[in-house]
Amino acid sequence: MKTVGVLALQGAFREHKETLQKCGVKVIEVRKKEQLDECDALVIPGGESTTIGKLLNEWSIAQRIRDRAGAGMPIFGTCAGMILLAKQIKNSTQFSLALMDIEVVRNAYGRQVDSFEIDLQVEGLEGPVQGVFIRAPYVEKVGEGVQVLAKHDNKIVMVKQGNLLGCSFHPELTDDLRIHQYFINMIK
Ligand code: GLN
Repeated sequence: MKTVGVLALQGAFREHKETLQKCGVKVIEVRKKEQLDECDALVIPGGESTTIGKLLNEWSIAQRIRDRAGAGMPIFGTCAGMILLAKQIKNSTQFSLALMDIEVVRNAYGRQVDSFEIDLQVEGLEGPVQGVFIRAPYVEKVGEGVQVLAKHDNKIVMVKQGNLLGCSFHPELTDDLRIHQYFINMIK
């Protein structure tokens, strides 16, 4: 049975855990770097990217995640989690794992429309996916080797680079398991 870790320092980790369990994998909440050794894949949830980043750094989990990413472990970052995967964060100097060749803009939809839901077309999935956006980032630039999987309003909102997956929205807040299943399928 595959084991998926959900980084549980802050944010929407419980919802990811429930969704992954519905997909039939074993799930562990990751709070210590040693727990990463038990994982075949890792989800970095939405929440507050500055807080999660600070804790990742203070608890020395960051380097172990980078090492595992380099060795091919699939990592899925949603919303704040995608910000933490990005090599460039346009409007901030905050900590990042800097694994994905993307530039993100934080809180990119502004205060007026900070939360909304929209149907998205995701590359490789049939039919619309409900996108729940909460103070979401979007991806402004992608490097070579980054695959764009979804766009909304001409802005990139889902990306894949090898073993790394990121999206601006919150698939764990819907009943649709397809995005998590897509991620689980990335485990070799
Ligand atoms: N705005 C948050 C951040 O920049 C992300 C919001 C979320 O994860 N829902 O960290």
